[in-house]
Amino acid sequence: MHLHHDSPFGGGTAATPQPRTQNADLEAQKPPLQQTPRQRGVSAEAPPVPSTALPFTLPLRLSSISGPTYVTAQTLIQQVSHTLSDHIFTYSPPSFDLDVSLRQWAAMPSKNTFGFTPSLSPPMETRTGAASLALGYIFSADFDESKRHVPQSILASTASLVQMRPQLDTLVRLYGAANPVVAHVAAADYVANAAGGKGALTADYAGVLDVAADMGLACVASGDAREAQHMAMLATLIARLGGVPSIHMWDGVRLGRETSRVVDALSAERVGAVYRAVEREVDVGSTVSAAASEEEKGARVEKVLDALNEELGTQYGFFEYSGHSHAETVLVVFGSVEATMGAQVAASLAKQIATKVGVINVRLYRPFIEESFLAALPSTVRNVKVLGQVKDFTAVRDPAVSSKLFADVLAAICFDPSRQGVVVEDAKYAREEVWTPAKIATLLAPTSSAENLELVDLSDVKQFGFWALDDSPIATAGTTATPLALARFLSSTIPASYQNVTVQIGFDNMIQGGIVRTDVRCSKKSIEAPYPIQDADIIVVDDEKLLKEFDVLASVQKGGKMLVKLPGLKETIEKAKDEEKLAQLEKRLPEDVRKEIVDREIELFVLDPAAIIKDDKETAEEATLMQLAFLDLLQPEAPTEKLSDFTGFSPKSVEGLSNDLENALRHVEIPASWGTVEKTEEKQIKVNKLGRQITVNSFVPSDREEQEPPNLLRDWTSVAKGIAFKEAYGTVQSPRPDLSHLTYTVHVKTKKRLTPSAYDRNIFHIEFDLGNSGLQYNIGEALGIHPVNDPTDVDTFIKWYGLDPTSIVEVPARADAENGLESRTVFQALSQNIDIFGRPPKRFYEALSEYATDDAEKKTLLALGGPEGAVEFKRLAEVDTVTFADILLDYPSAHPPFAELARMVTPLKRREYSIASAQAADPSVVALLIVTVAWTARGKDRFGLATRYLDSLKIGAPVAVSVKPSVMKLPTDPGAPIIMAGLGTGLAPFRAFAQERALRRARGETRVGPAVLYLGSRRLREEYLYGEEWEAYLDAGVLVHVGRAFSRDQPYKIYIQDRMRQTLDNIRNWYLKEGGSFYLCGPTWPVPDVTEVLKEALMLEAKENSSSKRFDGMREIERLKEEGRYVLEVY
Ligand SMILES: Cc1cc2nc3c(=O)[nH]c(=O)nc-3n(C[C@H](O)[C@H](O)[C@H](O)COP(=O)(O)OP(=O)(O)OC[C@H]3O[C@@H](n4cnc5c(N)ncnc54)[C@H](O)[C@@H]3O)c2cc1C
Repeated sequence: MHLHHDSPFGGGTAATPQPRTQNADLEAQKPPLQQTPRQRGVSAEAPPVPSTALPFTLPLRLSSISGPTYVTAQTLIQQVSHTLSDHIFTYSPPSFDLDVSLRQWAAMPSKNTFGFTPSLSPPMETRTGAASLALGYIFSADFDESKRHVPQSILASTASLVQMRPQLDTLVRLYGAANPVVAHVAAADYVANAAGGKGALTADYAGVLDVAADMGLACVASGDAREAQHMAMLATLIARLGGVPSIHMWDGVRLGRETSRVVDALSAERVGAVYRAVEREVDVGSTVSAAASEEEKGARVEKVLDALNEELGTQYGFFEYSGHSHAETVLVVFGSVEATMGAQVAASLAKQIATKVGVINVRLYRPFIEESFLAALPSTVRNVKVLGQVKDFTAVRDPAVSSKLFADVLAAICFDPSRQGVVVEDAKYAREEVWTPAKIATLLAPTSSAENLELVDLSDVKQFGFWALDDSPIATAGTTATPLALARFLSSTIPASYQNVTVQIGFDNMIQGGIVRTDVRCSKKSIEAPYPIQDADIIVVDDEKLLKEFDVLASVQKGGKMLVKLPGLKETIEKAKDEEKLAQLEKRLPEDVRKEIVDREIELFVLDPAAIIKDDKETAEEATLMQLAFLDLLQPEAPTEKLSDFTGFSPKSVEGLSNDLENALRHVEIPASWGTVEKTEEKQIKVNKLGRQITVNSFVPSDREEQEPPNLLRDWTSVAKGIAFKEAYGTVQSPRPDLSHLTYTVHVKTKKRLTPSAYDRNIFHIEFDLGNSGLQYNIGEALGIHPVNDPTDVDTFIKWYGLDPTSIVEVPARADAENGLESRTVFQALSQNIDIFGRPPKRFYEALSEYATDDAEKKTLLALGGPEGAVEFKRLAEVDTVTFADILLDYPSAHPPFAELARMVTPLKRREYSIASAQAADPSVVALLIVTVAWTARGKDRFGLATRYLDSLKIGAPVAVSVKPSVMKLPTDPGAPIIMAGLGTGLAPFRAFAQERALRRARGETRVGPAVLYLGSRRLREEYLYGEEWEAYLDAGVLVHVGRAFSRDQPYKIYIQDRMRQTLDNIRNWYLKEGGSFYLCGPTWPVPDVTEVLKEALMLEAKENSSSKRFDGMREIERLKEEGRYVLEVY
């Protein structure tokens, strides 16, 4: 591969990533986070596929950054940390490549502004205690004191930052004696179960804000690459002069990795000079102390920003306003993408339809300077919406959760008497939300139709979307891949139109084995559009399979062009009879795509590389052919001979392909019949189900190379060898090798049904004898039960599937992946390891289809595993509640060997149960309160796995258990009141709480706080669980009140919240006045109602205290939650 060393895009050798030891959490998310970039499409000697964190994926020399430069935000941030640090500590998860440039630059050492080469830590893992090394270094006895003023930098992602809490806490306390410390944090995390049940990479700001707010660190955000350089400097300067460590945060999924051209990128020398100038201006000698007040720190930070603005000629503010000058509604945003897009949309709405809206971008989140915020907020504003990120969709729905940003904004507005009557709304959103201009516009102006407005000005911008399988020639050619080479070509050979290019690459490794979408935008002017292309001028679809998976046409503008690769089309058409020629093309394009082509007046082009390239291994040739075809659509007069500079393909070959292009590229005349297809509702539903955008879940292509499958079902001799030569084979013997060492074996001591035997709900109390198991647990913790499948069901399955129950199988270890494989009999594997009677996910159907020998079965299984079968899949899962075994029974032609089946079926998972006893009261037992789960489906009785297992246990039976920590912790002060609310089995932990408090009283302790219990169930006669015990505790004074809500004992319903409301004074007294803690346990449904009652109590309390602040119940609940005084354990 030929790299252009003196090109404007930098040069030098390709990155050689350092090997990293892996983090266990990330390992669990294996598919999207590959350890090392792949080496496909290149020879064994060639460098690895370059990183998508680099501009055009090419290495960038430090000295190349100056003036107009193609960069990514991440490269500029690395340049600033190189220039302004003594030591750089990097915590980059595999493939995030947060330090890829630093590692290249380290190979050619160069001095920074302090006159030495900064040292670079080895790549470090994200785990608890990350940053200990940094602390150890700063405070080591032999630290060179002459460098005490030089900043130390940390490069990390959100997940790593969160793990650094204890170290940051220490740092803040000792900051007066420490070096300045700045953390550059890529807001990025992998969410395994994002919307749609798929994994997704998300820009996780919420975690960063939590750390900043909790630890008292300064925090600034940047919205594009240029800002990233400036904000990296600002954060470093705040760390140096502002008396607090600081965080610089940016969107690590999109913004951090987008290639763009910064016209006035600062060189390293200039970065150093500006830093020193600000240092002088702000007067280093008077550095504020770590103990200074928020106001003092705020004033200081303000001074730093003013000086930086002065030096750079910029106008950054802590809160930046855009939109109508008399806005009535204002959106407050924080974050990279939201901020850039919000400002543009507000300005467009204000300008185009005079909507009185605006956006405030929070650039400095901490310290949150309320006066600056209020100064930025127009006085006309009546309605403030705070677009704050929360963890997930559950948090979005949970009324008890509000975003961190909301709390700050609310406080600022409440304190300002001139803003009385301003409504502050919590427009919270989950991390995985992908913002588009239209979504922002809906928030700002829900009633006015912004549909036909140009929300973001892209009038001079050409937009191109490339859809490909990640192993296709157009994607695999590394830096010469079609979109990258085209982007570089357009920018440098046709600067008059395309001088500014942005490139964004996203991988979805969970579809079609891995796909890649590359968005390219080109313009003469600079471009700010931090969201996926939605109205492309041209889209390229490199594989027809993608047309069935995505509504790709939804991302082309009306009248735009689509170029589809259809290999072999020319030959089939030539061979077909005249009247069948059109049908050959129609076969390759789904009907709904044809219809949409007509409806949206799309121009269709098809490329058949096979028409001129005979050797399908010629991937570079095919990539170049695609580039030529694209340019033919965009700009036929483009100097295509210059393509060879960007493709690594000789000018002569490019010319040859160019001459042959007309034999491979065809502009399709659209037959009128394509538009007459009837668009039934059913068909429309099908189209609506197709994805419009990809879900980015990886920064690297998927690893398609098949992993060696574990050697399952080996013969007994190899197992015997393992047992005979333990050391040589690393064999460990254990009764349940699939479970980790923290599992204990306990024995059933007592079991007692608490509901009448004729009653339809079976709720029972079970106690286990701990014997000499060594098991220890704390109040409020839960017990993990490792269930076993019903032996009769297992037997039946073994017979039906034709297995030998005693043959030895090696199954993948599940509790701890590092355990490798374990030897079990087929019977044990089916009983204890794999969830053969559990719910199969979609991918099981897809995987099973490969084994079906019957065509019809294969087709149905495939459909069920894909988007077409979604409705039926849902029905099977939710109505029929089918199991893996049911599906095998339904599709008998699909009969994978047991070794394969064991890998296709999900492992059995443990279930958790709140512990209903206090070990201090009886050290030898652990008790649980269980309600059995049962339902009917397909005319058969079905049972919950663990509850059926527990119910079947005889006295004395051994059970594998483990202990799980919990949020249900008693107040540290035993004198603090506790208010407990439990529904059904939610009473379990309160039995433990009561036992503990009773024990303290029995021991004669004088400081034992009052305890109140609210309990709810259907009927007193049948479901007054542990009733006698509660009444005894009431008599003994352990409980001061028991509020019993039996919903069905009277003609009208009484619920737990009603009982709480009736005794609101108790709640006010013990919970609020006396600083008690509130606990709710059991099902989720009462949470909003119960929270409402607490809010009422809070409101009355606030009124009584005639609190000067405007009252906000949710904020108060949030505060109590943070103090550990509002605790929910719902399941
Ligand atoms: C912290 C915590 C504490 C808890 N404390 C208690 C407690 O004290 N007491 C208590 O009884 N429970 C408690 N639980 C709940 C408990 O962990 C179990 O979820 C519950 O007992 C059901 O387990 P199971 O194995 O019997 O049912 P499962 O087999 O897990 O079935 C559960 C549900 O899944 C669905 N389902 C099962 N199979 C299929 C299928 N093939 N297709 C479609 N749907 C299916 C059914 O709707 C069924 O109702 C607690 C949970 C948590 C998280």
